[in-house]
Amino acid sequence: MNCVLCGRKLTSDEIAITRKLINRAAEEFCCITCLAAKFSVSEEDIRRLIENFRQAGCSLFF
Ligand SMILES: [Zn+2]
Repeated sequence: MNCVLCGRKLTSDEIAITRKLINRAAEEFCCITCLAAKFSVSEEDIRRLIENFRQAGCSLFF
């Protein structure tokens, strides 16, 4: 699975956070870099969000 915007190979976290931020049923995914640009936040913010969701026990993150 690759980022639809830049073509970079995605991690499972990037796939999960795309589902979380855009659409749970998404079939196209973005890497952290492209997500940060899309939402006008830093990559660090996205990583923090991933960590928050994981700690909250969200089933999309493992
Ligand atoms: Zn990308």
